[in-house]
Amino acid sequence: MRNRFLDERTARDIDTMVAKILRGLGSPEPPLILDHVRALQKLDRHYYSSVDDGPLREFVSRAYIGTKQVFSRPTLILDVVRKRSLKALYLPDRRRVLIDSSQPKLNWRWSETHEIIHDGIPWHQETMFGDTEYTLSPDCHEQIEAEANYGAGRLLFFQEKFREFVSGSEPTFELIKAATKRYGNTMTSTLWRLVEVLDIPALGIVGAHPRGNTDPNRAAPQCRYFIRSRTFIERFANVTEDAACEVLRAHASSRRGGPIANDEVILVDDRGEQQIFHLESFYNGHEALTIFVLKRSVLVRMPVSGIGNQINVPSRLRR
Ligand SMILES: [Zn+2]
Repeated sequence: MRNRFLDERTARDIDTMVAKILRGLGSPEPPLILDHVRALQKLDRHYYSSVDDGPLREFVSRAYIGTKQVFSRPTLILDVVRKRSLKALYLPDRRRVLIDSSQPKLNWRWSETHEIIHDGIPWHQETMFGDTEYTLSPDCHEQIEAEANYGAGRLLFFQEKFREFVSGSEPTFELIKAATKRYGNTMTSTLWRLVEVLDIPALGIVGAHPRGNTDPNRAAPQCRYFIRSRTFIERFANVTEDAACEVLRAHASSRRGGPIANDEVILVDDRGEQQIFHLESFYNGHEALTIFVLKRSVLVRMPVSGIGNQINVPSRLRR
């Protein structure tokens, strides 16, 4: 699944709302404390699970998942949640956010912020939103959900503060780790934000271990997320998920934890020119997080006395 960018006007409108929340909190330093955001927005949060479905024993008269209305008469929320495997909900009339506590705890923070954004975006008002694993994932392409995910990323990473934090540093895993610590968000969402804010060609991949299970029927997706910076989309539109995963596999070790790749690799741009990227991959015990960042062109023109220019191939690529 690929990331995409919202149109400028929508992004600006959502940013205005996010800026208002951050101002209302007194322009704090990261990490964002969601208890404070809920207090400011006068929202209430409850957790539910299959053994504690109490918070779901209420009726709602209509509910949406993305742009689809999933029912239009008074129905027990519990039925909808079970039938649709909802992971999080926003109930406007109760001003309540409901989170499925059986999803991994690391995901709660993103889910809750996603619902807070549904509540804050004026044109999402007065609708009960139910969210599935798909709509909560930042690559969901349904407009309403893409908007909530964009806002969640902008709020959890303090809008332009994140860009300032990462600019001036090499976009490496060291930086991702430092930003993960500073902002208190998952490494996956930090990698995602980093690739999206970079103004150089960069690619992020989140997926199964590149040297993991080779049985295609059992393997987790090699490329669950395929995250591209704007300039990567402009200049490397031809680089596909399969091609990038193949490069990763060729350079990855079989280690089951920590760094599994750190190398220079070649990707071919849309003009057919070879470009060198720095590839780094990190296995967190669950998934491999990978980043490719453009370093330079393979064709380095070296002035040679009297005979014009000569092509120089870096020594480590001559293997
Ligand atoms: Zn949603």
